[in-house]
Amino acid sequence: MHDDLAHLPGLLSGYAADLLATLDDRPAAVPPAPTEPRPLPAPAGLDGALADFAGRWEPGFAGSAGPRYLGFVTGGATPASLAGDWLTAVLDQNPATRIDSSAPALEREAVGWLAELFGLPSHTGMFVSGATMSNMVGLAVAREWLGETLGVSVAEDGAAALGDVPVLSASPHSSTYKALSMLGLGRNAVRTTPTLPGREAADVDALDAALTALGGRPAIVVANAGTVNTVDFDDLRAIAALRTRHRFWLHVDAAFGGFAALSPAHAHLVAGLDEADSVCVDLHKWLNVPYDSAVQFTRRRDLQIRVFQSAAAYLGDPGEDPVHLTPESSRRLRALPTWFTLRAYGRDGHRAIVERNIAQAHRLGALLDAAPGWRLLAPVRLNVVCFTPETRDPSEILDAVAASGETFLTPTVLWGTPGIRAAFSNWRTTDTDVDRVFQALQKS
Ligand SMILES: *Cc1c(COP(=O)(O)O)cnc(C)c1O
Repeated sequence: MHDDLAHLPGLLSGYAADLLATLDDRPAAVPPAPTEPRPLPAPAGLDGALADFAGRWEPGFAGSAGPRYLGFVTGGATPASLAGDWLTAVLDQNPATRIDSSAPALEREAVGWLAELFGLPSHTGMFVSGATMSNMVGLAVAREWLGETLGVSVAEDGAAALGDVPVLSASPHSSTYKALSMLGLGRNAVRTTPTLPGREAADVDALDAALTALGGRPAIVVANAGTVNTVDFDDLRAIAALRTRHRFWLHVDAAFGGFAALSPAHAHLVAGLDEADSVCVDLHKWLNVPYDSAVQFTRRRDLQIRVFQSAAAYLGDPGEDPVHLTPESSRRLRALPTWFTLRAYGRDGHRAIVERNIAQAHRLGALLDAAPGWRLLAPVRLNVVCFTPETRDPSEILDAVAASGETFLTPTVLWGTPGIRAAFSNWRTTDTDVDRVFQALQKS
């Protein structure tokens, strides 16, 4: 192992740098070949492991960090974030408590920078592994608030003490259901409320009526700031204003839509975000840090500590140490890639990524709209184009473009119509890439 350590820097700067330099040319997706797991072989040393990986595994890895991977909402990794991520592994900090290093203080600084970007001066936050966990933490704090409101402690007595918990949301992401399942509130707690006609955004009057129908029972409202199909936004200000007449916790899933705040022309879409009780923002998507990373924000750190407190003599007082704030106890210094990219490129650099991706979505939307055979299923509101072929089966097209390696797009169903999504969220994507994606679709 000591020998390996001595030539690790050379190996890394050769092999990893080559991968990085050829990322733009890597196939966007690689149809997975059937690969049987092998039993643990005799030790090969780092050289041997690298050769085995490079020969047997790496060719099957997707160019998902590259410029023409438009599936899901995937993001890429800025050079500075990558440097931060490598250093995270090299220094291998465990920012669980604040007694042995300044790593937790760096995390606090990075969370503060994110709060500035998203306009959340009165929220505190922590890094978690993704938006699903961020939603889970927000909803866990919401659950504790319900307990406080009803005079019980969920942290001590369990979710059963709450009885029936209404969770109202117009177009919730699947991760909200998953979080409710993990939290013992159950997927069936969700009562979907009506959307505005032809939209995925909440009809606030209908939400008002649904809250009235609860007859004073406290509830959780999950507002959505950026739905995955049409990137529609609930009117956060109007929803927050309902709290003058109804008792509810307002959680906002702003996983990628929150980045609208960085673009002055789009910031109105998230106006009122600061009024939320808890907010979820993904970082491995549109901030362009490597997987896995997200941030959760709340105004009620006291309740968050009640939920996540990890009592043990050697952990010291349950104060605001990270170990008492998130589902994990030990964890990697996930804040470092974010710290690096924000320190390197600042608000302006990240604003430029967001604005470029929005313009690219509009460019592809316009090309498809003008070409015969394609139909937009929704107007392009931000960074996603949701469209469908007029006469063919979308899955045929998805398979053909994926096999070409030119791009990777993901399927969806919008209001009963099967369609295709193209989501722009990578700093590497250029207008030329948009044109190549369009050509690949035309040829499919
Ligand atoms: C991606 C996404 C999530 C889940 O994010 P993960 O990082 O995959 O856990 C939740 N909500 C929305 C709106 C998303 O786009």
